[in-house]
Amino acid sequence: MNYYQRTDCRLCKSKSLKKSLVLTPSPWADDYVAKSNLSKKHELVPITLCVCADCGNGQLDHVIDPSEVYLNYTYETSSSFGLSKHFKDSALSIINKFKPNKVGLAVDIGSNDGTLLSYFKNYGMKVLGIDPMPNIAEIAKKRGIPTVTEFFTEKFSKILKKKHGFADVISANNVVANIDDLDDFFKGVRNIMNKKSIFFFETFYLPLQIKNFVWDFTYHEHLSYFRVEPLKKYFEKLGLQIIDVETNLVKGGSMRCVLQLLDGIKNVDNSVNKCIEEEKNYGFNKRELFENYSKKIESSKQNFINKIKKIISDKKEIAGYGASATSTTLMYHYNMNYLKNLYDDFTVKQNLYSPGFHIPVHASSRIYKDKPDYIVILAWRYKDQIIKKHKRFLDNGGCFIVPLPEYKIIKS
Ligand SMILES: [Zn+2]
Repeated sequence: MNYYQRTDCRLCKSKSLKKSLVLTPSPWADDYVAKSNLSKKHELVPITLCVCADCGNGQLDHVIDPSEVYLNYTYETSSSFGLSKHFKDSALSIINKFKPNKVGLAVDIGSNDGTLLSYFKNYGMKVLGIDPMPNIAEIAKKRGIPTVTEFFTEKFSKILKKKHGFADVISANNVVANIDDLDDFFKGVRNIMNKKSIFFFETFYLPLQIKNFVWDFTYHEHLSYFRVEPLKKYFEKLGLQIIDVETNLVKGGSMRCVLQLLDGIKNVDNSVNKCIEEEKNYGFNKRELFENYSKKIESSKQNFINKIKKIISDKKEIAGYGASATSTTLMYHYNMNYLKNLYDDFTVKQNLYSPGFHIPVHASSRIYKDKPDYIVILAWRYKDQIIKKHKRFLDNGGCFIVPLPEYKIIKS
């Protein structure tokens, strides 16, 4: 695995980075492997969140080569719980709020299976998806969404502009946190914008991640941990301006930022300053914020380990539910190498083995054959759906363990 340690801030380039949250090193979090690949060695890479003492942005200090990360990526928007509806709502709210040119061009970077663009296409716009993952771009093309298989860079933006001109709407959802060279990326976006264009991106929002205790979203692909204040300053240097911010609960806490060129024609909404004010009130200018966050994670870990020790000493069989990247962070930080099986409803993960621990992943129907005594819900944010779907497991005497935000046992 190719990775390096980044020693300057991705936004302001300051070298004053403070280690603020240290989690247990893990293999690349989404590297679930086939049986034939079980001999592959999984290298452990540190997961350390550093905060810039100058601008306040957060980033992991280890950066994995993205070409290794994305080429085998299997994520499809339409198959993720609720994400398809969220993209619909987001596209419609952009259309209502900013009324883009109906005959204009909408470009989506990291367009995945084309879900978001399909709504701009319905609105009447020409659409173009850009995505480095060949398998998923094929799915988008079959749905009638033209897609170019490329990483979006400044160099590529020039080719794009020559061929298609300026874009009226540009979007990048769940992409920017995964990019190491943001200067190159945003300069590329700026190249295809004119005074009327808007660019919106959605990404994790660190204040909500802390508030909702979704620290298991801290994993290698997720390089940056954004909030509005550092981004506002950063964008202004690049000739871009944040004009609107909305937060939401997608992936445990996200934000949608809308930008235009610094000399763009739209007004700046109050939401931008409101978010910055809230970030100050939340304590982002104070050292204690991350100290308390780390302490809270540590005490939750100790509590979990103590309770599980008792279950293990009673010789009970324990399995896990959820085989995603977040599951890897959680399994490694809590050292859950004792899980016998993992269950996941996402078919591409089934019949694979978890990164490092090599725990087999099965369809959740296997629960009734394996009959574990306990199942730790690693995908804890979906606990309600999972418990509802597997009421029979509880009726048969099984117990679910919800690890976060607080340890809880669910019995019938
Ligand atoms: Zn900085």
